[in-house]
Parts: sequence; structure tokens; C-alpha cells
Amino acid sequence: MNTVDTELHPAAPKDFIRAMIENDLNARRHAGVQTRFPPEPNGYLHLGHAKSICLNFGVAQEFSGACNLRFDDTNPLKESQEYVDSIRKDVRWMGFTWTNECYASDYFEQLYAFAEALIFAGKAYVDSQTMEEIRTNRGTLTKVGVDSPYRTRSVEENIALFRQMRDGQFADGAHVLRAKIDMAAANIVMRDPTLYRIRRATHHRTGNTWCIYPLYDFTHCISDSLEKITHSLCTLEFANNRELYDWVLESLNLFPSRQTEFARLSITRTILSKRKLIQLVEEKHVAGWDDPRMPTLSGMRRRGVPPEALRDFCQRIGVARAENTVDFSLLEFCIREHLNTTAPRAMAVLDPLKLIIENYPEGQVEWFDLPLTPDAPEKGVRRIPFSREIWIEREDFREDAPKKFFRLAPGQEVRLRCAYYITCKAVQKDENGNITALVCTYDPQSRGGGTPDNRKVKGTLHWVSASHATPITVRLYDHLFTQDDPDNVPDGQSFIDTINPASLVTVSALSDPTVAALKPGETVQFERLGYFCADADSTPEDTVFNRTATLKDTWAKMEKR
Ligand code: ATP
Ligand code: MG
Repeated sequence: MNTVDTELHPAAPKDFIRAMIENDLNARRHAGVQTRFPPEPNGYLHLGHAKSICLNFGVAQEFSGACNLRFDDTNPLKESQEYVDSIRKDVRWMGFTWTNECYASDYFEQLYAFAEALIFAGKAYVDSQTMEEIRTNRGTLTKVGVDSPYRTRSVEENIALFRQMRDGQFADGAHVLRAKIDMAAANIVMRDPTLYRIRRATHHRTGNTWCIYPLYDFTHCISDSLEKITHSLCTLEFANNRELYDWVLESLNLFPSRQTEFARLSITRTILSKRKLIQLVEEKHVAGWDDPRMPTLSGMRRRGVPPEALRDFCQRIGVARAENTVDFSLLEFCIREHLNTTAPRAMAVLDPLKLIIENYPEGQVEWFDLPLTPDAPEKGVRRIPFSREIWIEREDFREDAPKKFFRLAPGQEVRLRCAYYITCKAVQKDENGNITALVCTYDPQSRGGGTPDNRKVKGTLHWVSASHATPITVRLYDHLFTQDDPDNVPDGQSFIDTINPASLVTVSALSDPTVAALKPGETVQFERLGYFCADADSTPEDTVFNRTATLKDTWAKMEKR
């Protein structure tokens, strides 16, 4: 099994699942470990899936086992090839390779045969109650269920009806196939669960071959068993379904795959539910599944998040049984950790203010070396032109500077990153009093950023030479939602009402000329501004950058507290 480079994916600390697997192997319960990642192709993968991917593929890798990618495609109304393709791409992007690519729909024939086997064993029957009746008669937590009047049908009658269901002789909803278990079971899942329903819908792989489709609880365990999955890892909402999972496999005497549940990932300011993500896309609150504000893996990729950062994130959050919500800043921390060493530095100014160095020779151009990675000089430098007129960030100047404002102010000296010390001498304004330019002087002896007399300055500014500046478009992203839990809304509202109207701000910016050559997907760190990734919307005239993350590290601060 070949998955990610182990150096990028060091063995995770032992969680309860890894401890369980180790026990199983020590007790020789299995010869090896076989897992699967089982998405339903009814949407794009999101950060929650990343956790499941890292767990299933990671465990298989650590125990020299195998992991299948299995599409749980039993609901033709919601599934499509587009989603299948996106899932394959995203799992690969995460750095994993599956052993087998499987589809629940490939098991339709076998599943059907197992359903007949249950009927012959007297463990399943065709129910002809309406959906409504089935629901009411199921009972509640405090009230036992009521047997269906059709529960006592003979095996012969059940087989004949089930075959007619398959042959398309009944309308949708006319009958269902149910397991015959116990209508008084404490676990409601065990009160004669539905195994098959009639649904005339074209399946993205099997077309119109079938008009009956198996339900999740029947399909999943049998698919696991057919693939000899030793450890079927799923999220906690399936805990009640485990009893049925075991019942089906035992009743059919199949390979005893075993299900273990772990807590879903939730992240502040984030929605991790495909249904709601579909709503965001369909109602056009975002530009698509891969909008960089989306918590989808395709959105993360487009935003410039490296898969290594996501794997690191998944390892840090770990796997446990208790539900908890992870702070979004932990994800940002992992992104910065990675990009800090991989994203080369460059200079750009988002809100430009002209600065004229009056004692710098007109027409002169000098080239300065900006280290691509300050901590790793061997990675080289970016050559940046410097001239008499440059752009600086408007917010780096204050006319009435407060005491601790260490950036530029009248009479104050600052360093221009890897260039010179400059002092602000005068402020130019238009007739409305808006600042149009700053007039400064530079100290020729401070070339490279220091002086012979070791004079200290407190501020260092980024800048771009005016005559060399290249216009670029920059998209500044913020959280898509204004509150930590977007679902926590008053009655009558929905998570849609908590969308942050300022989650995307697009600005025209100026960068050093080398930056325009970056290809979509390439990441840079604009000095003092953050990490940015060139977007596929770029044209030869205009390079578009998405802000991946700012430099501000709220997480490190929180951790120190
Ligand atoms: P959603 O609720 O977003 O629709 P899902 O559980 O229906 O997600 P599936 O495609 O069925 O999505 O999930 C594939 C696998 O990913 C399942 O094993 C599921 O348990 C796991 N998974 C889905 N969401 C999360 C999450 N938030 N955290 C951890 N694992 C998740
Ligand atoms: Mg699901």
C-alpha cells in the first residue's frame, strides 16, 4: 500500500482506535488491517471528510494494511459522476492512494441476493403499509412499536412480491422490504428497519437497471463485509445503527466486519454538512464548491491551503469519542506553520500611498535582494527594483501618530525592507486635505537596512517601486460566518442569516514585477500582509491572488495564555 511520505505524516499519537486495532492484531483477531473511506457522491468533500480520510488511510498505512475508496452510491436522486470525480481528485490531493476503488452499486446484484436469503430465512418481509403508517407504527422511545399487518406474510408470498418489486410492477412507495426483528426493541433502529424501497430514478452508474434500491443500513455492512473490512470507522451518529450492522452480518453469516464510532469534526465559524454546503452553492451565496471561503477540500486548495497543513491539522485534533468544536485558528496555525517555510517572500501594497525620496537620484534604479525564506538562505533571493518614487501601505503612515506608532510619521525614521532608512519630511495633500504623497529623505549609508552608527529604527515597511509596480487583483477572505456557531440562530432564521457580508473584499493592488509570473496554485508570502495564492481566474494582464491566511497568529497567543 503506498500512501503519503511518512516524513510528512509521522505516526499519530495512539488514540482509542489505534489502541483497539493494536489489541486486535495482538489477539490475532485479523491477519491484517483493512479500512475504507466511504463517501456518498452527493456533494464535495469537506474538512470533516479530511478527518475521516486521514484516519482511515492513516491507520491502514501505519499498520501496513489497505484502505479502499468506496462510493456509497445507493441514492440515485442525489448522486452524480461530477461528485465522484471531485472526490477522487480530493482524496489524491490529500496525499493518499486507495487500494481498491469500490462502488456500493457494484454490489446491487449481491445485495439483492442477500435480501432474498433473508426472506427465505424468515428474517425479512414485504410491507405494504404507507410510509406514514410505517412511521407511526414504529413507536417512540417511550412507546413500543406495532406489528405491521403484513408481518406474517409467508416466505412464498414475500419472495413473489419482492421479485415483482424488482421487476417494476409496483408504483414507487407501494411496498418496502423490511427486516423482521423486533417491534418492541429498545433501540428503535431494530424495529423492523426498511431494507429496500422502490424508487424510479436513473442511477449515475447503473442507469435504469434497477427500480428498487437498498438502504444505507443494509448496504453499508454488506459492502464492508464483501471487501473484508476489518475496522469500519464511522462517526457517532451511527452508534445506534451498529446493532443492525451486526444483525445483518450475523443473519447472513458473512465476514464479521466491525463498526467503531468516533466524534465528528466541527470547527468554529464553519458549516460541515453537505446539505447546507449545497444550499450555499445553489443559492449562490458563494461562487461555487471551490470558492475559497468554502470548507470544502476544493475550496481549501483554491485558497492556497497545502494538503500537508490539513494532514497536520487532522493529526493535532486527534480522534476521540467525545464531541467537541475545534477553533478555526488551529487550522490557520497549521496553514501558517507550513507556508512559513514553503511560500517564498514577495512584496505587494494593497492600499498604495506614494512616497518620494527627494535626495535619491532621479532615474536611478537599484536592485535589492529579498530573501525568499529568511530562515533558509540557501533558498535564494528575489531581486526587487528600487527607485526614487515608491508605494507604501497607506495605513503605515499617520500624520498624528500615537506614541507607540512605530511606522512612518512626520519627522520619524523607518526602514524600508532590505533597502534604506528614510525620514518623512513633508506631506502633500489635495484641495480636500487628502494625503496624496509623502516627501522623504533617505540615508545612503543605510543601504541594505542598517547604518554604520548602528542607529535603531523601530519600524520596517514593505514597498514597491512606483515605476516598476505591476497591478494585481487581490481577494481578501474572512470567515464566511459572523458567529462561532452559524447554526445557533433565533427561531425562524437559519445559518444563511449569519453569513458575513464582508467575507470577500476585492482590491486592486500593486506588486513587485516578479509576482505577475506566478502560476495558478502557486503561493507567496507578501511581506507583512500574509500568504496569498495565485488563482485560476488570472489573465495575462491581471494576476489574481487569494489570501490564504494573514500573518497574525491568534492561536499561538491563545496557547500562551
Ligand atoms: P454530511 O453530514 O456532510 O452530509 P456525511 O456523513 O453524509 O456528511 P458521507 O459522504 O456519508 O458524508 O461521509 C463519508 C465519511 O466521512 C463517513 O464515514 C462519515 O462518517 C465521514 N464524515 C463526514 N463528515 C464528517 C465530519 N464532520 N467529521 C468526521 N468524519 C466525517
Ligand atoms: Mg451520509
